[in-house]
Formats: sequence, structure tokens, C-alpha cells
Amino acid sequence: MSFPFVGQRGGRSPVVPLTGSAHAGLLKEIEAAGVGSFWATNADGQLIYLSEKAKESLGSDGEKLIGMELTSVFKECSLKDDGDTQRSLAFKMRTQAKITDQIVEISPGEDAASLRWWQISARPYFDKKGAFCGYRGISADITSEFRHQQNVARQSQYDELTGLANRRRLQQRLTSTLNAFKTAGRSCALMMLDLDRFKQVNDTMGHPAGDELLKQVAERLCALIKDSGEVGRLGGDEFQILLPDLDDRGELSELAKRIIQMLSQPYSLNGRRAIIGASVGIAIAPYDGIEADELVGAVDLALYAAKAGGRGTYCFYRSELRDNASHAATIEEDLRDALEKGQLEINYQPLVDPSDNGVKSFEALMRWEHPEKGRISPEVFIPVAEQTDLIIRLGDWALRQACMDAVEWPGEICVAVNVSAKQFMNADFTRQVAASLKSSGLAPSRLELEITESVFVGNVEAVDKTFAALKKMGVRLAMDDFGTGYSSLGYLKRAPFNKIKIDQSFVRGCTESGDTNPAIISAIVALAKALDMETVAEGVEAMDELKLVKERGADLIQGYIYSKPLTQEELLQRFAESKLTFTPDGPPRYRADRISVFRKIGLIHEDHYYDVMLRNLSPTGARIEGLADVPVGTQVVLDLGSGQLVVSKVVHTNENSQGLEFETKLISDGFGGLMTRHRVSPYALAEAGMPLAALGSGSYPLAQQWSGGEKGPPKFVQLALS
Ligand code: C2E
Ligand code: MG
Ligand code: MG
Repeated sequence: MSFPFVGQRGGRSPVVPLTGSAHAGLLKEIEAAGVGSFWATNADGQLIYLSEKAKESLGSDGEKLIGMELTSVFKECSLKDDGDTQRSLAFKMRTQAKITDQIVEISPGEDAASLRWWQISARPYFDKKGAFCGYRGISADITSEFRHQQNVARQSQYDELTGLANRRRLQQRLTSTLNAFKTAGRSCALMMLDLDRFKQVNDTMGHPAGDELLKQVAERLCALIKDSGEVGRLGGDEFQILLPDLDDRGELSELAKRIIQMLSQPYSLNGRRAIIGASVGIAIAPYDGIEADELVGAVDLALYAAKAGGRGTYCFYRSELRDNASHAATIEEDLRDALEKGQLEINYQPLVDPSDNGVKSFEALMRWEHPEKGRISPEVFIPVAEQTDLIIRLGDWALRQACMDAVEWPGEICVAVNVSAKQFMNADFTRQVAASLKSSGLAPSRLELEITESVFVGNVEAVDKTFAALKKMGVRLAMDDFGTGYSSLGYLKRAPFNKIKIDQSFVRGCTESGDTNPAIISAIVALAKALDMETVAEGVEAMDELKLVKERGADLIQGYIYSKPLTQEELLQRFAESKLTFTPDGPPRYRADRISVFRKIGLIHEDHYYDVMLRNLSPTGARIEGLADVPVGTQVVLDLGSGQLVVSKVVHTNENSQGLEFETKLISDGFGGLMTRHRVSPYALAEAGMPLAALGSGSYPLAQQWSGGEKGPPKFVQLALS
């Protein structure tokens, strides 16, 4: 940038060096012509002079600045907002250094419109005795150019549509944050979001509606995150949130749940309604990654796992996810094969009326016996199939098979078939249902379709049309897993459901004291009654649970207490013997939500590290095997791997097995598993002499670091682990 008065020489007259007084005269002339823009300070750094041109640039308030500290008038700035402050103006003035081409911001008035940007240069000046007298400087008003460049810089950093940070800015921010935090030993969480069924809205309602939707998503995210992090859009329907200093996995789960809920509320797009869902992946530095690319890789895998889990879930990164991604690809291939070779089967689980134990219907549940890997749960293969169109073929097959099987049952018994959201959305779905009914000859009133809340996500009109078509056909509809997904009661009114299935998670543990689930069950039952729908309690296993759900008014029961899913042969056998009732049979009481496991973990006691087998795990305790004679009351630390250490106390013991109680409760990992809120920081491990690296799936034998010095003999006998 050049200043207007520099080098302005008129004519071709010989260049004669100017004497002191002639020089001053020239300056005066330039000033009088209103060309030059000058300023000066006194020795104390106060602004004592602004030329007319300079004042003009500042508007009517310019005069007021005279007498103020220069450093409070001229605010240094640069186009890069990377916090990279050059040597400060104050520092230069203190050391009486020359100021060259410094850009400063000046706000002479209150409002933003009065803001001005100048480029200034100045020299200190001294009196004859060499004493410092202040600065004399020149300036050029570069406001319009600065604003323009600011816009250009903004566009390269922000997403035009939503105004959020773009991929480039997010990447820079993540890298600079992680670098700074590494030195300070601070943590930082990264969330990655993907909108469920955005593509469907975009395709069916048009791109302007899709754009509007993205804007509204951005607004909702910003309203939720406020100043606690930076929200950005990576492109398409992918968003990212950077959350400095947050590593509590309990808090992060709550936040993820709130985000999913908030984004799942209906949107109004130019007068039309749409509903989308969201999946969230979460990774935390330094535990899951220390460098930006490591953390981004981790959060990608977590998001992938969340999406595979379906219906608006979040997922934390864990090192096993690295294997799962390739695992999913082989499952999908093998599943296509299995469908072709007829290796899939349907089992049927009864829904029983508890007043007379009579069976009313059976739910069709898919079973897959893999030739090498053995039985694979539908909880594993259905989500994989849902990632591709395979679910449509798979669902169609299940529908046909179930209808064919059901025609062989006694006339009053219905069959319930699970329908995945993707299958439901498929334009061909109603035709598939009609074809299954026609080819099997099953009466439509004997077919019930189980649908989860995730089908409501997407283009509202298209969904409603499918419901109307199904209703017209005369098939029955059940809302499955009610309460787990988007949980909007509005859905119940929109679709003509005959039945609500209360999700297992409300039934499991509902008899524990202080549990709020019985109240939820009552509320769902009351709501269903008001809407003239039947209720089913899913997953009833124990007698006390059966009693409670009966008391709370559930019309039907489905659970191991009556029967596990049975094969078609077993059913036909029963029907041949006219056995149309099931007898409840199960443990008298529900046992705390223990997840049965069989996993080798570590146990630290005093200065020894033992290998033990984890046999079951609940939020409050665990049972382990592998040590002999550990007295009740012993304090130990369990090492659950990946830096998860749990301070525990032995509460019961027999020969080689101990029951432990945890000092701090474990929390849900959002996927049916448990995890600790906090982990041992890789920074702490590095301090203890281990190389700085993100936590892998291994154990962290800290015992040595803790104890230092000499080791005593081990207190307990380590048994061989099978
Ligand atoms: P869902 O539709 O909620 O089915 C109920 C699940 O709960 C079944 O698991 C059933 O075996 C299990 N269950 C029933 N009673 C109890 C109990 O007392 N205790 C316990 N622990 N579990 C109980 P399953 O067969 O593993 O199926 C899991 C999920 O996979 C189903 O949940 C459904 O969402 C999906 N699925 C299964 N078959 C199909 C299918 O043909 N199509 C589609 N789209 N999804 C299917
Ligand atoms: Mg179901
Ligand atoms: Mg269910």
C-alpha cells in the first residue's frame, strides 16, 4: 500500500534538496491542501495532533481522540485471526522503535459504522539534547480495502450457506488447538454429526428446501453450543463441533443426546414439514488421538459406528472400532451370500395375554447361522444391511416367509414382521406387502408391521402416504421400541397404530427401588389407552417384572419369561398338540443390569498387577475370577483397558471369584455397554515415563509407576485363566 503524498512530484523541475525550514513549509502546504494525513504523540504516548485529512477520515468524533493514549486509540489488527500478534504497538513505543506499515483499527464513535482502518508508519523524534519527544507519523485510510479483504478472508474460512466455520477453518482450529493443548496438558472433544435422511428431504422436497434445512440445523446447533465450542459444517450434511476442555464422557453423552433430540424436532421448510434425525460420533484428545488427523480418524469411525447403530444414536470412539469397520464389509458380503443360498431363517416369539396366558401373535425374528462364525445376532447384521439396499431385499424375503409360515397357524393368530425405515421408505414397499399377502393367501388383518420411530424421519408427506396405503390394505401397525428413538408423541397421532411396544430398556430393572421406569410404563399405557391402542411390554424376563407390567396395565407380554423365539417346526408341533398358551417361567427377581462378559482385564492391588477374568459388569460393580483368597474389604483398582481405571472394593468372595463394588458408577456407552466417565490421560502416562500416544485397547500397568521402589511378594495367588 502506498500513501498518496509519497513521491508526488509535479513537473520535471530539477530535484533540489530541501533545507529544514523549506521542508517544514512543504509539509504545511501539503497539509493545507488537505492531502497529507499526519498524527503525532507527546513523550507520554498521548495523541496530540491529527491533521485535517486525518480528522476527516474519522468523522465528527475524530477531535475527541486528541489527548487520549495512542495505544487505546490505535488497536493493532491483522487479517489473520490466528492470534498471531506481531510485536505490539505498545512494545514498540516503549522501546522507541520505528513503526512501519502497521494496520490499526480506530473506533472514534460508538457504532460499528464509525470503525476505520488505517495503515500507519511513524518515527520517534528527539529534541536537540536527544530527549524523546514522541512520535510523528503518517497514515492512510484503508477502510474499504480492509473490509473487502476481510470478506475474502471470511469466505475462505466460513461456509457461505450457514455462516459456520468451514472444513478449512475447522482443520486449522483443530490443529492449533491440539498443538496448544499438548503443551498445557488440556483435553478437547471432537463431535462429528451426520443428518439421517437429509438426502431424502433434498431429493423429494428440492434443493432450496434442503438448503433451508441446513441453515436451520446450523441455527439449532449454535443455540445449543453457544460459547462452549465451535460449530462448523464440513460440507453436505456433515457438521463438526470442537469442544475445548471437555473430556467427561458422561457430560458428552448428555450433550450428544440433547443435540440429537433438538435436531430431530420437526422443521418447517417454506410451509412444508420435514423431520430428520442425527447420528453423532465422539472422540476426545488426548485419549483417542493426540494429533489432529488421528483424532479426526477416530471421530470418523465413531460416527460410522453410530450410523450403523441406526435411529439417532451417538457413539464414542473405542479402539475396537478400527476392526469393526472391516468386519462390517465382510458381514455384508457374507449376508448377501446367505440370502442367496437360503441360509437365513425366521424364528417366532409369542406375544401373550397375561390374563389367560393365551398367545395372540408371534413376532418374526430373523436368524442367521454363519457357516464358519456360527450364529450372528440381528443386532449385528441388520444395521450392516441397513447401510445398503440389502435391507430391502432382506426385509422383503422376511415378509414373504413370515406370511407363508403364518397361513399354517390357527386362524386367529397374527404374525408381526419388523420393517426397517429404509425398507418402509422404498417406493415399492406397499406393493411388496400386497404381493406377500397375495402369494401366501394370508388375510391382511393377520399381518402386523412393526415400525420404529425412525420411519417418521424424512419427507412427512411421503411417509403419511405410505401409512394411508397400508391402512387401506387392512394390515395392522405396531410402533416398536417405543421411547428409545426420537420419542415424539406426535408420531403416535400421525400414524394409525394398533399397538405400542414398550421398549425393553423400560422393562429391564423396572422393579428396582427408586427406578422411574414404572412411571414411564404407566404413562405409555395411559397414552395408548387414550389413543385406543394396545400395549406390549417387551423383554420381560423375571417374575417381579411380569407382575409389575401387568399391574401397570400392559395388554400383552413378550419376553423370555414366556418363551424365547421358536422355529416354525416347533410352532407347528405345539399347534398340533393344541397348545395355544404359554406358562410364565423365569427367575423370581430381576438381577441388577449385569452384562455377562468373558474378558481378560487387569487388577491392581498395592504394587502388583494381576490378570483376572471379568465375568459380569454392572454400573455399580463386577464379578471377577482368577485370584484366590481375596478378603472382603480389600481395595483394588480394576483396569478395564484403554485407560479406564475403576477404584473398587471387594464385597463378597469365595475361592476364586470376587464380587466388587465400584467407588464411582460406570456410565452407558450408548451402545448397550458400559464405560468410565474419565480415563487416565496419556499426558499422565507420559509423565510417568511411557511414550506419549493415544490410548489403545491394551491395559495400563500403572502399578509399577505408582509404587516405584522395591516390590513386596504378591498378596494373592494368581490362578491360571482359561
Ligand atoms: P425387536 O424388534 O425389538 O425384537 C425384540 C428383540 O428382543 C429380539 O431380539 C428378541 O429376541 C429380544 N427379546 C425378546 N424377549 C426378550 C427377553 O426377555 N430378554 C432379552 N434379553 N431379549 C428379548 P433379536 O431377535 O436379537 O432381534 C433384535 C432386533 O433386530 C429386533 O428388535 C429388530 O429390530 C431387528 N430384527 C430382527 N429381525 C428383523 C427383521 O426381519 N427385519 C428387520 N428390519 N429387523 C429385524
Ligand atoms: Mg420388533
Ligand atoms: Mg422391540
